[in-house]
Amino acid sequence: MKIKKEWTHRYIVVTGVVQGVGFRPFVYRVAKKFGLKGHVCNTSSGVKIHIEGLRGAVETFLKYLETDAPPLAKIDSIAVEAQPLHGFADFEIVTSDDASEKSTSVSPDVSVCEMCLQEMHDPSNRRYRYPFINCTDCGPRYTITTTVPYDRPNTSMAKFEMCPACAEEYENKMDRRYHAQPISCFDCGPTLSLLDGAGQAVDCSDPLAACAERLKKGAIVAVKGLGGFHLMCDATNNEAVQRLRERKRRPIKPFAVMVKDLEMAKTLAEISDAEEALLVSRERPIVLLKKSTHYTLHTTHLSGVVVPRIDRIGIMLPYTPLHELLFDMIDRPLVATSANLSDEPIIRASVVLVEKLGHIVDAILDHDRDIINACDDSVMQVVGGQPLWLRVARGIAPLTLPLKKPTRRKILAVGANQKNTIALAFADRIIVSPHIGDLNGIEAMEYFDRTVETFKRFYDFTPDIIAHDKHPGYETTKWTHQFKIQHPTCKIISVQHHYAHALAVMAEHGLRNEKVLAFCWDGTGYGDDGTIWGSEVLHADASECRRVVSLRPFRLLGGEKAIKEPRRVALELLFECFTLDEVLALENPTVDAFRPAEIRLLHQAWEKGINAPVTTSMGRLFDAVASLCGICQYLGFEGESGMRIEALARNVDAKPYPLPLEGGRLEWSHMIHEIAHMPDTKVVASRFIATLVEMVFAVASRMPDMPLLFAGGVFQNRTLVEHIVARCEAEGRTFYLPKKLSPNDGAVSLGQLWYALGQE
Ligand code: ZN
Ligand code: ZN
Ligand code: FE
Repeated sequence: MKIKKEWTHRYIVVTGVVQGVGFRPFVYRVAKKFGLKGHVCNTSSGVKIHIEGLRGAVETFLKYLETDAPPLAKIDSIAVEAQPLHGFADFEIVTSDDASEKSTSVSPDVSVCEMCLQEMHDPSNRRYRYPFINCTDCGPRYTITTTVPYDRPNTSMAKFEMCPACAEEYENKMDRRYHAQPISCFDCGPTLSLLDGAGQAVDCSDPLAACAERLKKGAIVAVKGLGGFHLMCDATNNEAVQRLRERKRRPIKPFAVMVKDLEMAKTLAEISDAEEALLVSRERPIVLLKKSTHYTLHTTHLSGVVVPRIDRIGIMLPYTPLHELLFDMIDRPLVATSANLSDEPIIRASVVLVEKLGHIVDAILDHDRDIINACDDSVMQVVGGQPLWLRVARGIAPLTLPLKKPTRRKILAVGANQKNTIALAFADRIIVSPHIGDLNGIEAMEYFDRTVETFKRFYDFTPDIIAHDKHPGYETTKWTHQFKIQHPTCKIISVQHHYAHALAVMAEHGLRNEKVLAFCWDGTGYGDDGTIWGSEVLHADASECRRVVSLRPFRLLGGEKAIKEPRRVALELLFECFTLDEVLALENPTVDAFRPAEIRLLHQAWEKGINAPVTTSMGRLFDAVASLCGICQYLGFEGESGMRIEALARNVDAKPYPLPLEGGRLEWSHMIHEIAHMPDTKVVASRFIATLVEMVFAVASRMPDMPLLFAGGVFQNRTLVEHIVARCEAEGRTFYLPKKLSPNDGAVSLGQLWYALGQE
C-alpha cells in the first residue's frame, strides 16, 4: 500500500500540430523508457494520454513532452489533470476513441532529414540512393494528403503496397519509421521516369543520371518536386537561361536558384548568420540574398540573365532526396522556377505539364507518387535580423495559429485577388492555406476552388460565416455571393482591403481591443469611397477603424496601363504640378520617355479626366519616383520599381523631401517639383525613402502613445523597413510587423478572418 502512494495517474491533452508527426510513437518511447503505464491516442481535440507510474518518472515524462517533442510537432497547449489510480498493465498506443479526427491540423511538408540523408548516402543501406526516402520526421505531408486522419490510405501512397521490410519498420513502435505514412523503398515505392516534351518515356537505365546529363548540356528539364514541377536549367549557362526566358515568355522577372549546399550558396551571395539559418532550416524557403559583388577565384559565374536589374537573388537548398541525388551529379547552381504559364498555378501532374509546357521543355523527370495538393516554394528575406516572409507556402503552410478564445463558428475568409490565400477558423484554431496566387483566370479560380474543397474535407468544414474583400469585382467576392445562393443561412461579412492588412498583423500579435496607428501601404485595394486606396494610415482596433491620413489623391493615366508604366503615373503628377509647356520644357527622364505629341495627347485626356481613375496608392508613388529619376519607365515585373529604389537608397542620412500633412492629406507636389528638377538616381532613391520614414514619424508624433503597425506590400521593402524599425527602437515606440505571414496580400485572408471572429 505504501508504494501505491508514490504512484500517480495523470490525464494529459496535447493540442496543436500533433498528428502525422510521430507524436504518439514519441510518447510511447518516452513512457517505455521511464517504465510508465497507460495509453496514448489521437482524438478530435488533440492527443490524449493517460500516464501512470512513480511520481518522479511522471514528472520527467511531462518535461520530455515539452522539450523533446518530434521536430514536426507544434504544441499549442498541454493540459494536465490528476486522476485516481487506474492500474494500467502496460503502455499502449490505442486506436482513436472517435472516428472523426477532422480537427487535428494537417502538417506542412518538410525537407529530408539528416538521418535519412545519411542512409541515402550509405552504400550498405537498403535505401542507398533511394529518391523517396523519408521517415516520421521528414517528407511529404500536405501535398500527398487527400483527407484526414493522416493515414496511408488517405494519401497518394495508398496505391503502393508496402513490402515486408517496410511493413516491419512501419509496425515497429521503436523504429524511427513507425507509422511513417509515405514509407517505401526500391521494392515497393514510387519510381522515377524520364519523359520527353511529348510525354513519351525516354529509354534509359538511370533517369536521374540522364536528367543530370541533360542539364549539364544546357537542356531545360521539368523536375517533379514536393508541391509541383520546377523548370530547371544550368544557371551558369547564359544560352540555356536565355532560352528558358524566351520559351517561357518571361523576359526580366528574376528566377530563383537551387544550389547544392551552403558552400555553393556562398559563392553566389553574401549570407548573414540569420540568413544561413533560414537557408538550412527544415522549411527550406527561397531566401532573398544580396548578390555577391566580391568576385574571387571561387565565385560561381552565374548567368547575368538569371536575375537582371536588381541586386538580390533568391536561393534555396535542395529539400527532397531527389534534389539531393541530382546535386550529387551536378556541381553548379540550377535555375529552379515554378513550372506554370504566367499567372497560372504551379503544375503538379506530368500530363498537364506536357499539354501546357511540353513545347518548352527538353525533358521531364517524373515519378508516380501523385501530388494531391499543389504547393509553391516559400519565399522570404531577413530584414534587421528578423525574417520577413514574401510568400508563405511549402514547408510553412498550412499554417496553424492557436485561438486564445475558442469559437463556436466555422468561418472562412477568402482573401484578396492577388497572392490569394484562404483562412479558416473553427474550435481553437486558425488555419491559413498556402499561397494560391493571382486569381486572374479560369485555372487560378479552379485552384482556388480546389483549395477550398481540400480544407473543407480536411476539417469537415462548411462555413457559417464567410469574410471577403469589399471589392465588388473581385473573383472571391463573386464566389462568396455564389456560395450564399447555395447556402442561404451563411452570413457574409465584407472587410475593407487595407483594414484587412492591418487586421492580419493584429491577428498575428493577438491584438483585439488595443488601438493602433496602422500604416497600410500597397499597390491597390478597393477603398470605402470606391477609389483605389494604397497609402492609408488607419486608427484602428480589431472591431473598427478610421482612415486618418493618406496621400493626396492622384490619377492613373490610362487606368490599367499606368500600373505597368511608371512613366504614366509620373507624367500625371507632373501635370498636377506644372503647366503643359513647363512639362514639355523639363529635362527629365519621364518627359524623355514620351514623344512631345504623346504628352500633348495625354494632357488633353487628363484635362477631360478620361480613363483616369483616382488613387492614393503608395505603390504607384514609388513607380512615379522611379520614373522621374530614370530608374525605370516600364515594369518588367510587379514591384520592380520598389526593389530598385531599395537597392539604390544607400545614404541613410539623406535629407527628406517636404511631404507636409494638410487636412489628413500628404501633399506631394513640393517633392515632385524637387525631383523633376534634380533627377539624380541615387540621391532621389535615398531621399525618397528618408521622406517616407520622416512622414511615418511626423504622423506618429501626433499620437505619441499609440503603437504603430505596418502592413501592405510596400513593407516588403527592406530599406524602408530597416529604417522604420531602427527609428521605432530609437524612439522607444511599440510597433508591430508581420512575423509569420507576409505583409502583402497573402495575409489579407487572415485579416478578414480576425475581423469576423470579433463580430460573434
Ligand atoms: Zn527522415
Ligand atoms: Zn519497401
Ligand atoms: Fe494589398
